[in-house]
Amino acid sequence: MNTVLSLNGISKNYGRIRALNNVSFEVPAGSVFGILGPNGSGKTTLLGITLDILRPTTGSFKLRGQDPSADVRKGIGTLLETPNFYHFLSGERNLKIAAEIKGKGQNQVDSVLERVNLLQRKTSKFRTYSLGMKQRLAIASALLGDPEVLIFDEPTNGLDPVGIAEIRELIKKLAKEGKTIIMASHLLDEVEKVCTHVAILKKGELLAAGHVDEVLVNEDIIEISASDLAKLEQVITGYGGYSHIKHSDNGLQVFYPVGTAKLEAMNQHCFNNGVVLNHLQLKKKSLESKFFELTGTQSDR
Ligand code: ATP
Repeated sequence: MNTVLSLNGISKNYGRIRALNNVSFEVPAGSVFGILGPNGSGKTTLLGITLDILRPTTGSFKLRGQDPSADVRKGIGTLLETPNFYHFLSGERNLKIAAEIKGKGQNQVDSVLERVNLLQRKTSKFRTYSLGMKQRLAIASALLGDPEVLIFDEPTNGLDPVGIAEIRELIKKLAKEGKTIIMASHLLDEVEKVCTHVAILKKGELLAAGHVDEVLVNEDIIEISASDLAKLEQVITGYGGYSHIKHSDNGLQVFYPVGTAKLEAMNQHCFNNGVVLNHLQLKKKSLESKFFELTGTQSDR
């Protein structure tokens, strides 16, 4: 696997506050990697460390397999918060200034405007842009110099639904072009829609990291009960096919990969093995409840 970023035991303290605690994961090249967590979970701190804005208290990381240096960082485009564009200058003029300041991409202003679909409006003043257009201009600025890796902190924050949809589409388009995108988000829905990979943070702890389909897996749960719970559990254990079994107030919960739970077959199996069920119900476990379980917070769906 070609790795763009690998974090090795990163911790960060702000005085007595431990914002990150021993966080390690890898970001594969070509992924859209979501760093998902509620407010205050350490997402911005983590991005700040990878961009050399903050120093980790302990731990280290590598960018494209190398120790981080100004040279390696040149291959990263960033969008950390809505940048300070000049309100009375055009989008084009603002990008020319940004290119001068960054010392890269001076001859790419039109091409990055085209990629974020703002070429037609390049001579309009920044203050006349919608919020979504302002954010797309910020992404255009991040694209100057044609970096391979893009780091976005909450790129859809504060946007209306149209603006949010525009930015999500743009992120998917950039991913198709082969960019690796690392983005912080507190929205499960967003990560689910846009990202291929995810790391979930809660109060600075890494709860899970990996492919979205593996981390944010949907599950079927069959809830069952019988007068003799011990016997029921023994019979179900022999039935197999499930991922795990949990005890609940209503008896047992048997978890299956989505779409594989079969109520009738289970009922028949129990009956054939001398257990008569007094409760049998199929429950779907949503991604939302999974996120809630992982982070202990409500997601903003
Ligand atoms: P948000 O989405 O609200 O920005 P986040 O997940 O990005 O949250 P961080 O901003 O990284 O989280 O904050 C992680 C923790 O560190 C929080 O408890 C926050 O209050 C604390 N923190 C962040 N920056 C500082 C700082 N400069 N000084 C002290 N504490 C800080």
